[in-house]
This record gives sequence, C-alpha cells and structure tokens, in this order.
Amino acid sequence: MSEQIVIKESFRDKVATVDKKGKRVWVFPQKPEGKLFNLRTAFTVFYLLLFFGLPFLKVNGHPIFLINILERKFILFGQIFWPQDFFIFALGMVVFIVFVALFTVVFGRVFCGWACPQTIFMEMLFRRIEYLIDGNAAQQKMLAKSPWNTDKILKRTTKWAAFWLLSFIIANTFLAYIIGVDEMYKMISEPFALHIGTFISLAVFTTVFFFVYLWMREQICTVICPYGRMQGVLLDRNSMIVAYDYKRGETRGKFHKNEQRAIGDCIDCEQCVKVCPTGIDIRNGTQLECINCTACIDACNRMMDAVGLPQGLIRMASENNIAKNRPWVFTVKMKAYSLVMVVLLGVLVWLLASRTDVGITLMRTPGQLYQEQPGNKMSNLYNYKMLNKTFSEKEIELVPENFKGEIKLVGETKLKIPKDGTASGIMFVYLDKSEINGRKTPLRIGVFENGKKISTISTSFLGPFNGNN
Ligand code: SF4
Ligand code: SF4
Repeated sequence: MSEQIVIKESFRDKVATVDKKGKRVWVFPQKPEGKLFNLRTAFTVFYLLLFFGLPFLKVNGHPIFLINILERKFILFGQIFWPQDFFIFALGMVVFIVFVALFTVVFGRVFCGWACPQTIFMEMLFRRIEYLIDGNAAQQKMLAKSPWNTDKILKRTTKWAAFWLLSFIIANTFLAYIIGVDEMYKMISEPFALHIGTFISLAVFTTVFFFVYLWMREQICTVICPYGRMQGVLLDRNSMIVAYDYKRGETRGKFHKNEQRAIGDCIDCEQCVKVCPTGIDIRNGTQLECINCTACIDACNRMMDAVGLPQGLIRMASENNIAKNRPWVFTVKMKAYSLVMVVLLGVLVWLLASRTDVGITLMRTPGQLYQEQPGNKMSNLYNYKMLNKTFSEKEIELVPENFKGEIKLVGETKLKIPKDGTASGIMFVYLDKSEINGRKTPLRIGVFENGKKISTISTSFLGPFNGNN
C-alpha cells in the first residue's frame, strides 16, 4: 500500500508534458464530447462572433471598439477615450484584476478553460482543424510516428496552411481592433510600399500565433501564463474547482460486467486523462496544469453512465465539499473581495458617468504678470487647450462665475472644437480692480455648450502684491 502511495505521489515530481530526459511529451487529447462540451461550444460560437465581428460594428459611421495604442486613441462602446481619461483605464484595470482574483477564489480557473482566448482558439478552432485533417487522437499519434510519406506530407502541409491562414485572420482581427477596419481597407488598396511597417508587423504576429498554436499549445497555460502561476495563492479549500471525488472513487479498479461494485467507483478507464488537453490525471488532485476545461467531467460522466453508476465522480466542487461533504459556503475571504470589488466598481461607474464630452485645460501664460487696463481694470493672459471627445463639432462658451469681468479670446470670435479633435489658443480675463483680492484671486469659469453648463474650470488671477499677501 505504502509503495502504491509513493508511486501515485510521483506525479508531483514531474511535469506531465516533459519526460525524464527533459524532452517534450506531446499531448494527443481525445476529442471531448458531452453536455458541458456542448455548452462550451455554444459559448465559443457567441465568443468568436463577438471577437471577429466587433471591429466591423459601427455607430454613426464610427467603430464601436477601437484600441489604437499607437495613436493613444480608444473607443469603447462608441465613446471616445483620450489619454486624459487614462486614470479611468487604470482604475478599470484594478477592478479587472480584483475581479479576476475574486472570481478565481470562488470559481477556480474556469476562466482559463471557458473564456481565455488562448484556450478558445487552441481547443475550439485549431484543435478541431487538427481532428479534421489528422484524425482522432490515436490516428494523430500514428501520424506523428510515421515516416515522411506522401500521406504525412499532404496532411502536414494542409494543416500548416490551415493554421497559417487562421493565424493570419486572427492577426488581422487584432490589427482591426488597433487601427480600425476602414484604415485596413485603405492600406490594402494603397501601394504596398506605403505601409511596409504594418505588413511586416502583421507577418510577425501571424508567425507568432502560428508558432503558439502549432507548437507551444498547452505550454502557454502550464509554463508561461502568469495567471496559472497564481492559482496556488488564490485557491483555497472552498474554491470551486474541477475535482475528483476520491472518497467515492477510491479504491479504483477495473469494472467487470455485472459486478456488484465492492470497491470505489473509479473504474480506472483513464478516459479523464485521455481527453485532458494538458495531459494530467485529475485523480491526483488539483494541479497547476488544470485549466478547468471540464472535458474530464464529460468523459467520466459518460463512463459512469456506461457502467450504471451515478454521474459526478469528477465534478465542479470544493475540496471541503469532497473531503467533509460540506455544502459550498461564501467565506469571509470571498465577502471581503466582493466588498472591495463593489466599491471599486462604484467608483468606476461614477467616473464614467461624470466624465464630460469636453476636456479643458486652462493655465496662465508662463512669464506673464498682470496688465493694467483702462476703466480701472486689470487683465491676465491664459493659454487654453480644449479636447472634443465626441464625433460632432462643439461650440463652447466661457462665462465668469464668481467674478465681475470679461473673457476675451485672442484672434477668435467663437470657441469651436472640431469633432474628435482639439482646439488651443490664448485669451484674456479682465477683472475690475475692486474684485482683485491680493496676489492670487481664485476664479471660477463656467463652460457652456448650447446654453447648457457642462463643467466649471477653477483657476486664479494674478494681481499686484499689496503687502498683506
Ligand atoms: S484535468 Fe480536466 S478540467 Fe483540468 S485540464 Fe484536464 S480535462 Fe480539463
Ligand atoms: S474517467 Fe472517471 S472512472 Fe474513468 S478513470 Fe477517470 S475518474 Fe475513473
């Protein structure tokens, strides 16, 4: 018995996809099938429609999503975000990280198996193409071992061509998110030499995707992805994970027809291992390599049905649920994470709701003091910069709020900001001397659009030093 335990524990000393000599062990997973896989397929269809379709969606002729990192221009849900809105992005990222942490504490790594683009592309697109061309897992193994005959050359070139094409489509889709489909059409129609840099980047990214899905595969999840590495700290005994019910399953043993099961329910068919895309045996417990794809649940349920035993030997469950038969509980840790999440989400919503369509910066012109003006007045010179975050031109009016005075633009009669653009210039603020309150008088200027106040700018007016300030 102790020898058996030592052997069983030996899985901890090695990586499932690396042999004793340190060479890669290629995984040939069996094609998954079952209720969960069908659900995952339905989700994938929706996901891929969204991924490939979003760059083509437009509102009033403008993309609904654009993540132009190069020009620092972002459109999310039809709203333009400029670098000035970066703090909203930063907070959005914090909310996202907390959400991922909370989600992982509660539901384990289900994101990896069901929503991560790497898994979706690998398991639901590239792997399916592979099944179509190379055949099932056993046929794939045979093909890998076989010499380079006509059949192998034909299958390999067909697969590589299909993988390359798909990688090219994915790279183009990512590019469409960055520069927009209109810009892409333009590039295609213009001479190649004009956009050589973009085409080289496209070729590089296509090659990277091709290499990832042809060669790297599960190594991305098990060796490279930092999220996978974090599981050890995020998961606890109450987290929902894909788990083998060892209490019910052990002692495992082969099933014999018409037997009255006197040992554990695991019939040691290894179907759960054969479908695993990361090549692990979930019966060894939670492992870093498990991406929670749930393929082993389907496989085991199918076997349980076949031998007339109840489903759920492998299921979504917490360690406490299996070890102590405890129902799932919303722990203090989960509550604390949820609270932080709700607060951050609230702040994010408030920032988005209070975000104005026009961004204004107003600063006194450097090196300029106050100027004496006729009529017992003084003036200060200011530089303004205005940003229009919408797709329509804006006409803005600046109105004194807390002072009697005048605002005069230099060289302009109206303050117009072009759509999705900026306007800058200089202006004078005139103030009655009686309004000046020492060295720095605080001013508030109302910003109006079509007679409606949209924001207030706070600045100061520089006056003469009167001995008290
Ligand atoms: S152990 Fe199961 S859930 Fe985990 S990766 Fe393998 S098949 Fe997917
Ligand atoms: S599929 Fe189920 S019954 Fe078969 S080896 Fe895995 S856990 Fe045991």
